[in-house]
Amino acid sequence: SDSHFPVPIAPSHVDYSLHYPHYFHPDTTTDDNGVSTFIPCKTRSKKIQFADIGCGFGGLLISLSTLFPETLMIGMEIRDKVTEYVKERILALREANPGQYQNASVVRTNSMKYIPNYFEKGQLSKMFFLFPDPHFKEKNHRRRVISPHLLDEYAYTLQVGGIIYTITDVEELGEWMKDCLEDHPLFEAISKEEFAADPVVKLLSSATEEGQKVARNDGQTFTAVYRRISLVATD
Ligand code: SAM
Repeated sequence: SDSHFPVPIAPSHVDYSLHYPHYFHPDTTTDDNGVSTFIPCKTRSKKIQFADIGCGFGGLLISLSTLFPETLMIGMEIRDKVTEYVKERILALREANPGQYQNASVVRTNSMKYIPNYFEKGQLSKMFFLFPDPHFKEKNHRRRVISPHLLDEYAYTLQVGGIIYTITDVEELGEWMKDCLEDHPLFEAISKEEFAADPVVKLLSSATEEGQKVARNDGQTFTAVYRRISLVATD
């Protein structure tokens, strides 16, 4: 349950030094008894820009880490053991490849509840929802990780121009995610040309463990990629 993992009370309380020690020193103050306390950070030189929601075993993060070596990115995963696995995987890669993979990390959390605790308004430039659990049944729509309500939250977190990537092998869920995005006033589909030219689109299937599984079974996938737009009237 949620009580098993800490939740930062605000994005300034996320301790970047734990995730990206190559970029951030621990920000602490030590009292007379030698007890140190984390100092919330309001002015960071760099902020997390990519979030992989329900990152699973971390394949996408690993690929993005070298494709965007200067961008801080984080995976959010609710399963404890899977999160630990991804942590170890990244640490091993850092050790084997000095200077690399310092920009990728993972956190155990419930993304459906705590995204605003991790990211400020307009902070992210990319969000990923790759092969999310389907929650097929009608009554479970509200448990789906893409919903009209949660899209409001994702729109808040994404910068204008930021991109949301979704993919699934469950046709009904693919349609649902696309419909939700299509109906939301703050998102528009990216053009066919942009879709074809974006190197990240190719990774959605090829770099994720779930995408590889679907490909091995010759399964179909359903992708929706949308841009966060502003609501300013254009006429
Ligand atoms: N994105 C990965 C991939 O494509 O290989 C993993 C896909 S897996 C089918 C879905 C993942 O989402 C699981 O690892 C699950 O634990 C995680 N998950 C489900 N609900 C979540 C939530 N509320 N917050 C964070 N992660 C969640």
